[in-house]
Order: sequence, then structure tokens, then C-alpha cells
Amino acid sequence: MPLPRIVRTVKGLRSTVQKWRSAGESVALVPTMGALHDGHMTLVKLAKRKADRTVVSIFVNPTQFAPTEDLSRYPRDEAGDAAKLGSAGADLIWAPSVEEMYRDGFATTIVPKGAALPLEGEFRPHHFAGVATVCAKLFSQSMADVAIFGEKDYQQLCVIRQVVCDLDLPVRIVAAPTSRDRDGLARSSRNAYLTAQERAIAPALNRALHGIAAIAAKGGLVNKAIDVATHDLLHAGFRKVDYLAVCDAETLGSFQTGSGRPGRVLGAAWLGSTRLIDNIAI
Ligand code: AMP
Repeated sequence: MPLPRIVRTVKGLRSTVQKWRSAGESVALVPTMGALHDGHMTLVKLAKRKADRTVVSIFVNPTQFAPTEDLSRYPRDEAGDAAKLGSAGADLIWAPSVEEMYRDGFATTIVPKGAALPLEGEFRPHHFAGVATVCAKLFSQSMADVAIFGEKDYQQLCVIRQVVCDLDLPVRIVAAPTSRDRDGLARSSRNAYLTAQERAIAPALNRALHGIAAIAAKGGLVNKAIDVATHDLLHAGFRKVDYLAVCDAETLGSFQTGSGRPGRVLGAAWLGSTRLIDNIAI
């Protein structure tokens, strides 16, 4: 497969996408921060089934990182990413510089509430404003009909659906299931930070979520299940548990067993200096 063309200006992106659209072709966007792994590739495969053309954006968005977070050490490998995207059959890589994305005088931010407030919103207060704003820009820049988001970042998916609905953005959001290693660990670019010993401990997060989901599904004592799971994670070697929570799968508000509404278990915990997140359906 040939390498996809890498485009770095909004003007260049728009002119290619305009040509596709005038020829009657539909466009799917897969937003990423690069350091692509097999999980990202499942999104690209899904995108190819949903539209005639696939644009993959690679942009490590500074506005969604707090000053104390891992922006400077976030893994970057554009050549490796381009080779993987070539094999997967992506049509174009949208890789703007920070200056192209946030031109001089940039002063507009989308601040989502609702699904953005709990969980990650409590631990990373400005994160979803950064995500919402850059995604709105990516949708507008790419003029995509469809955008693919992974359930791996479940709260992000809920927030993006909310923003698209609230702002009447003309893009359809499609969710891709979480892609996992054989031992249950959700694939993530940040897994590259883990030492061999931490990597062996990491699947305990997914097991903890399954333990809580089993109790929640039976209408059992969720708070007790969360306490037990927290204890198990710390005992396994996690340094800190930011949250383990059982939520309504759409609003991320409170979940009632037997309400007929879907539920979701979500968690975030620190393994050494790496923060892992995961979630599963109830
Ligand atoms: P990132 O590059 O980590 O910002 O992720 C880009 C997109 O890929 C997001 O929609 C993520 O939810 C999705 N993604 C990342 N890891 C996985 C995974 N293991 N399974 C499914 N989707 C994923």
C-alpha cells in the first residue's frame, strides 16, 4: 500500500476534501494523537466501512493537557504512524502544527458541561474544553460526514456526542469497541510508559471493573464493591485510584439497577507515573 499523503495546512486539507466531495465521495475522520497501535487501526478499519475516504488526524493537542501532565513526553512517531496507516488503507493524514491549529490571536473555547463534569472532569478540569474545541475544529476543517471515536475513552465519546448534538454540528459520531491485549489491558499509547513489572500488574484495572459490573448487574452494594476493588488495585501495586464509578451509560449521571437504562463502569488509576483509564458495559 502507498503511504497516505501528509497534509499540514487547513487550506491543503480543504482543497483535497472538496475534490472528494464534489465527486460524490463521503469522508470519515479518525481523530488521534498519533503513536498509533492496533486499537487505532480498528477505528481506521471501521472508518473505511463507513465512508469512501478516510482522513486520520494526528495532533497532540496541547490545550487538553494540564501543565503537570505528560505533553512533553507523549510518544511521537510520525513515520511509523504513516507506515501503519498506509497498510490500513487510510487516504490522508492531517497533521497540522500547533501554530496552524491555533493561529495567532486564537481566543475561542468550547466549554462542555453535563457529561464533561464528573470523573475525568473532576481530576482534569480543563481537559474536555481542550478536547471539545479541537474536535469541533477537526470536524470543521475536514468537513467529515462521520467521525470515529473509541469506547476506550468512554467519557470523551459521551462529551463529543453531547457537543455535536448541542451545537448541531453536521457530523455523525460512530463508536468503536475497546481493543484489548489478550490479558484484558486496553490498548493505549500510554502503555509504552509502563515498565515490564507495571505491565504485568496493569490488567488488574480491567478485572476490577468486571468485579464491580457483576455486583451492579445483580443490584448488589456498589459502594462496597468499589471499596473492595480499590483495595485490590492498591494491593496489586497501583499507586493511587482516582475513581471507580458506576454511571448511566449516556449521561454519566447516577445509575439505577433495574431502571432499564444501560450502565457503565469507569475507572482511572495510577501505576507508577502512568495514569490508566478503562471502562466496560454493565
Ligand atoms: P488517542 O490517540 O489516544 O487520543 O486516541 C485516538 C482515538 O483512538 C480515540 O477515539 C480513542 O478512544 C481511540 N482509541 C485509543 N485506544 C483505543 C483502544 N484500545 N480501543 C479502541 N479505541 C481506542
